[in-house]
Amino acid sequence: MSRVYADANAIRGRSWYEYSKFRIEWSSPDRYEIVRRLGGGKYSEVFEGVDTVNSERCVIKVLKPIAGHKIKREIKTLRNLAGAPNVIALLDVVRDPSRKYHSLITEYVENVEWSQLYMRLTDADIRHYTFQLLTALDFVHSHGIIHRDIKPANVMIDHQRRQLRLIDWGLAEFYHPDTEYHVRVGTRHYKPPELLVGYKRYDYSLDLWGLGCMVAAMIFRKQPFFRGSDNEDQLLKIMKVLGTAKMDAYLKAYSIPFESDVEDLLGNYPPRAWTRFITAENQHLTSPDALDFIDRLLRFDPRERLTAKEAMAHAYVGTVRVEGIKPEGLSDSGFASM
Ligand code: AMP
Repeated sequence: MSRVYADANAIRGRSWYEYSKFRIEWSSPDRYEIVRRLGGGKYSEVFEGVDTVNSERCVIKVLKPIAGHKIKREIKTLRNLAGAPNVIALLDVVRDPSRKYHSLITEYVENVEWSQLYMRLTDADIRHYTFQLLTALDFVHSHGIIHRDIKPANVMIDHQRRQLRLIDWGLAEFYHPDTEYHVRVGTRHYKPPELLVGYKRYDYSLDLWGLGCMVAAMIFRKQPFFRGSDNEDQLLKIMKVLGTAKMDAYLKAYSIPFESDVEDLLGNYPPRAWTRFITAENQHLTSPDALDFIDRLLRFDPRERLTAKEAMAHAYVGTVRVEGIKPEGLSDSGFASM
């Protein structure tokens, strides 16, 4: 069971987490115009758009005709999180007259492509954005929600305004203790060990692994930090850094049966010291605090990983904390009505 916020949904009640039952009032798409295509994936096509009523820029995420309950889950999640710090704001939901296409209208972020941005972030930038992401995650987790796809492509950064927004809530799920969840979620390079070994009783700590991978990538200027070519190779890449002994101890502690045909996965690897990743290019970003922060996030055992709240109290982001960046949050009773 999660070390924190295990009862976040139970205390808010069914109207908070039962997403299959609520009715959605759809607006007409006429109000929004497409400006250009931004990207797309398995579940959606994303466009930059304009709201013709107020001339504001927006993002139009056209959902592919997928299972209805997934659409409801994404909308319910975003509505519950209305006003949450550093979470993309859902502005409207629209459906075309044929009722085939559903779109989410969200705020637009003047985003700098991460593959360009990450390699030029300063030490202060990395600490700042890490703290902003943790602020979002702690809020989201405390409200009973796991994002399940934390990765650079889902973290929009407006570097000029030093603003960060967590996007793509299509995989987000409500956390209930002792529940089995799908392990085929997330994106390979950011998948934690529990998903790679098929352990279904995971929790919020899933998101902290993804964050750990992002922080390690930014600090060591190695993107992605764990580059596996498939799920087994992904696990192997992790093992070659954290060591076989830690992996074995984790599997044993959780009685996880794990068999593999991949010979390398049965090899014996010593843990690699974090200092061995320091190079001439990244040494200005590495410090004992930075390495300790990474070390406490990238743990096989989810219970050993820092929670978002604990990570926010770590010395690595301590300098950001004293700058006094206070997120504007919801009041804790703030249940966004549907
Ligand atoms: P996605 O399919 O959700 O990964 O979105 C595709 C691409 O659209 C992303 O990689 C971003 O470059 C862009 N994008 C998505 N949401 C936003 C947003 N709110 N503001 C700006 N760009 C976005």
